[in-house]
Amino acid sequence: RHDDHNSSRSALSHHHPPPAAAAADDPSTEAYRRRHEITVVGDNVPAPITSFESGGFPPEILKEIQRAGFSSPTPIQAQSWPIALQSQDVVAIAKTGSGKTLGYLLPGFMHIKRLQNNPRSGPTVLVLAPTRELATQILEEAVKFGRSSRISSTCLYGGAPKGPQLRDLDRGVDVVVATPGRLNDILEMRRISLKQVSYLVLDEADRMLDMGFEPQIRKIVKDIPPRRQTLMYTATWPKEVRRIADDLLVHPVQVTIGSVDELVANSAITQNVELITPLEKLRRLEQILRSQDSGSKVLIFCTTKRMCDQLARTLTRQFGASAIHGDKSQSEREKVLSHFRSGRSPILVATDVAARGLDIKDIRVVINYDFPTGIEDYVHRIGRTGRAGATGVAYTFFCDQDSKYAADLIKILEGANQRVPRDLVDMASRGGRGRKRNRWATTRSDRGGSRSELDSRYSGRDGLSGS
Ligand code: ADP
Ligand code: MG
Repeated sequence: RHDDHNSSRSALSHHHPPPAAAAADDPSTEAYRRRHEITVVGDNVPAPITSFESGGFPPEILKEIQRAGFSSPTPIQAQSWPIALQSQDVVAIAKTGSGKTLGYLLPGFMHIKRLQNNPRSGPTVLVLAPTRELATQILEEAVKFGRSSRISSTCLYGGAPKGPQLRDLDRGVDVVVATPGRLNDILEMRRISLKQVSYLVLDEADRMLDMGFEPQIRKIVKDIPPRRQTLMYTATWPKEVRRIADDLLVHPVQVTIGSVDELVANSAITQNVELITPLEKLRRLEQILRSQDSGSKVLIFCTTKRMCDQLARTLTRQFGASAIHGDKSQSEREKVLSHFRSGRSPILVATDVAARGLDIKDIRVVINYDFPTGIEDYVHRIGRTGRAGATGVAYTFFCDQDSKYAADLIKILEGANQRVPRDLVDMASRGGRGRKRNRWATTRSDRGGSRSELDSRYSGRDGLSGS
């Protein structure tokens, strides 16, 4: 199905040149993304559209935007519009209130205008949303911004009589906004056809799955031809959402709005994973430290407090090093941090808990001396570097005993377009967490690792272990 979908995808994008905008590699693109905490993962990601006028929207739409009094696109709009306008699939992770609705509606309107389908044969754009309230809000936005472009929209949700909803459908609409339950009811009555839908939006996907709509969504999607563009919006990025994204989207570009350490493997960070035995670790660490520019700040992670102290003592003979962990008094911690900040002691050895919340801007290198006790911590750790526009480097020592994390680590490396060491793939397919998972990891790697998927959006992780 993927192959099919791909070839029709290129046919779709064929007659739709990307809008004029700054070149993707323009320094201003990087600056804009940094300023607005935008992280993108995927191939050929276009530059953000930073003003309404440069989006290539027709005058009718610009007029509505002006009337609404908006001065500039929100970050999620700026970055997801050009992707959607190129007919690429989008995964957008952003909090509520960030302007996601217009983020997908306006490109959807352009899509409708381009295709000129007869609305009496069914909608061209379908938006799925979890609740009646959300669906009606989206409809309001669609009506308001689509009016002068003569785009017709309606809303289908439960808890209200079907009659008026069916009448709207019979008259013909370009856009249907629906909750999955009611849409399925109407599909079963054969009162709507989804054969013309070629722009599908899953809004608040995480909430829809929380509410148990997954089977309904999958059933609806079966009625939509694979020749379509799919956009998924979500506030969080748990496994369930990643799985449905994997099944329904094709090579999506992933756009995340948020602070760097909330993000997965930010591509600004080079991730080196080295398979190593415990006995080789210290020598290799010293080698890495010697190869750094003098004064570069390096943060080293260990699992235990004792190991932290021990390693700092060993290193301090050759390099200025100190340790920070939960057994240190507040005044000791402050002293250690100020020496680290000032560069007097540029190497800091820490546990996960101690490193949490450290606000140190210019860490160049993070070294995972011990692999963390969860893949989430891996992401949090490497997120300490590459901040504030700096490029960061992470080194991770990976031993046989860490093999159960091999498959997860591979996913993260691939999601950030990083090199995946062959031995790690071998390890994942030998040991790890059960056959299914490992086989999957191997396949992904064989596909070239270009899938844009990030794997560490964790909803509310507190209580870290390890110190
Ligand atoms: P989300 O879906 O991310 O929660 P919404 O799409 O509901 O956010 O937008 C939140 C509010 O911001 C809405 O009232 C919307 O009209 C408004 N809005 C959307 N885009 C802009 C913009 N570019 N500038 C100012 N306000 C905007
Ligand atoms: Mg919304």
